[in-house]
Amino acid sequence: MNKITNHMPTAELQAIDAAHHMHPFTANHELAAKGARVITRASGVTLTDSEGEQILDAMAGLWCVNIGYGRDELAEVAARQMKELPYYNTFFMSTHVPAIALAQKLAELAPGDLNHVFFASGGSEANDTNIRMVRRYWDQMGKPNKHVIISRKNAYHGTSVGSGSLGGMAGMHAQGGMPIPDIVHIGQPYWYLEGGDMSPEDFGLMRARELEAKIEELGEDRVAAFIAEPIQGAGGVIIPPDSYWPEIKRICAAHDILLIADEVITGFGRTGEWFGSQYYDIQPDIMTVAKGLSSGYAPIGASLVSDKVAKVIDSGEFAHGYTYSGHPVAAAVALENLRIMEEEKIVDHVQNEAAPYLAEKWHSLADHPFVGETTIVGMMASLALTADKSVRKPFKAPAGTVGYKTRERCFANNLIMRHVGDRMIVAPPLVMQKSDIDTLYERAVKSLDEAYKNVKDAGLMETAD
Ligand SMILES: *Cc1c(COP(=O)(O)O)cnc(C)c1O
Repeated sequence: MNKITNHMPTAELQAIDAAHHMHPFTANHELAAKGARVITRASGVTLTDSEGEQILDAMAGLWCVNIGYGRDELAEVAARQMKELPYYNTFFMSTHVPAIALAQKLAELAPGDLNHVFFASGGSEANDTNIRMVRRYWDQMGKPNKHVIISRKNAYHGTSVGSGSLGGMAGMHAQGGMPIPDIVHIGQPYWYLEGGDMSPEDFGLMRARELEAKIEELGEDRVAAFIAEPIQGAGGVIIPPDSYWPEIKRICAAHDILLIADEVITGFGRTGEWFGSQYYDIQPDIMTVAKGLSSGYAPIGASLVSDKVAKVIDSGEFAHGYTYSGHPVAAAVALENLRIMEEEKIVDHVQNEAAPYLAEKWHSLADHPFVGETTIVGMMASLALTADKSVRKPFKAPAGTVGYKTRERCFANNLIMRHVGDRMIVAPPLVMQKSDIDTLYERAVKSLDEAYKNVKDAGLMETAD
């Protein structure tokens, strides 16, 4: 068999990929006909593909490469750790330095008393841990009926059977028997398309109060926890109205339930604070982290657990864990990533430089005839495509038709900007400089101009009734 290298012709790589590689969240027969883009290397905020094209990655991979590509320090730490101790488990009364050091570091960085860390290999696994942990907590508290977890429609918490059930993605629930029992979903704080005639503030309050109504409907003695992303990421970068989180906070304080903040995207500087919980001034009982924890250089996630919950869980054996919980190489890489983030003051860079500049550029896109609204917190932003700026309504074409056409123009213009339905989203590496943001902006404008024309030409510039 020939060795597969970056130097093979693109078409050959694509053919082998199509023959054997099942891509996630992909209609693989369609992709096979087109051929996947082959990414060969990356440096800073720029990807290179097999045709030699230079692509600005305004999605930081999948919301994760926060410190940018090509950081040798991380590669060196990984190599060193692999030579010293590539693997040992943490199940059987044993531990190792990378897991010890990373747990301590996370306890130091996380807000409040989130002083305890249960490791996983990613966000889905960590959220599966959370499902079991909150139910176990209430069992041990002598309340075995408190098992229901309340989540939100259009939330994203991962794709395993448990975490996918926590998520509120209708398309996922339609495949493979989800959600599992005792997970229920309330409405999301998505004002632009769901707020009707209400002000954003009133709408935010209304959606938060769905939590209280659901607790009362089920009975507080049945509800274990509420889980939410501080800002919904994969759902379309949905930034809640300012009234939302204070009201959620009030409701959680008024009822004896646990709050889980899924900070897989909002953690580690994305909002301009270390954690989205700090941005919104909330104190979760459990926090889910992954992605930016290692800047994507190694697969690792974790549940950060409060003193209150850990004390109860630790009073017996929690029959749960993953072979790779606290994997030494991944933990060492994460630790080095956090060290770099602190040394280079990357959170400050986001808060004081990159995010304000991106916000200025991003909001200026709101003047485009194709754009209905622009929203941004820190380095996560979205815009709504629209056929008619005077109303907040979806396109007549099925959701995503127009967004997909716009994404195609971005792709063609060497800008990675995603679409979720007919919203366009970015979550760039946190290390972006102003010149990178200028490039992002120029390519976004060009792509919007071209997509606008294509959508008009295709007769799709029509609003739903
Ligand atoms: C990506 C994501 C997850 C899932 O993480 P994986 O590492 O893909 O399993 C969970 N929650 C949120 C908010 C995410 O964005």
